[in-house]
Amino acid sequence: MKLLPVISLTLLVCLPQAGMASKVCEARISAGDALRFDVSEIQVPPDCRQFTVHLEHTGMLPKAATGHNWVLTASKDMDSVARDAVKAGSDNGWIPPDDPRIIASIPLIGRGERGQVTFEVNALEPGTRYGFLCTVAGHSPRMRGSVRLVNQAADPSMPQPGR
Ligand code: ZN
Repeated sequence: MKLLPVISLTLLVCLPQAGMASKVCEARISAGDALRFDVSEIQVPPDCRQFTVHLEHTGMLPKAATGHNWVLTASKDMDSVARDAVKAGSDNGWIPPDDPRIIASIPLIGRGERGQVTFEVNALEPGTRYGFLCTVAGHSPRMRGSVRLVNQAADPSMPQPGR
């Protein structure tokens, strides 16, 4: 129980943020044997410092047959990244290595597996459109969605901090 003081301190530090509108700095997304993510848009609150995406494979097929990955890029880069992913091939888990267009990625997973990635929210520029996709060959036309930096200040129904 020597940890208790540390936990209390952490709670205190977090309280000012926790008191604001319930921001959720993570998203859960899953995909099965069909070439489809169960989520078409991920909303990132701008007051999150970091954001975590959890990916779960809910299908029955093993990784070699129908694995999935998760890649975050600017929307304008999605198609070119998908093309280069095919060149990178299965040896790289269908993710081009050290690619500056890729902001975050979750490596290839198969049946019963999970993966996750955490990225810095300030890597997303306001005004730029972002998207996510599975870059396994043939998957990206259907397995894609948008990642949106939510501008909470523009929503009058949300409580504004400091007012
Ligand atoms: Zn896939």
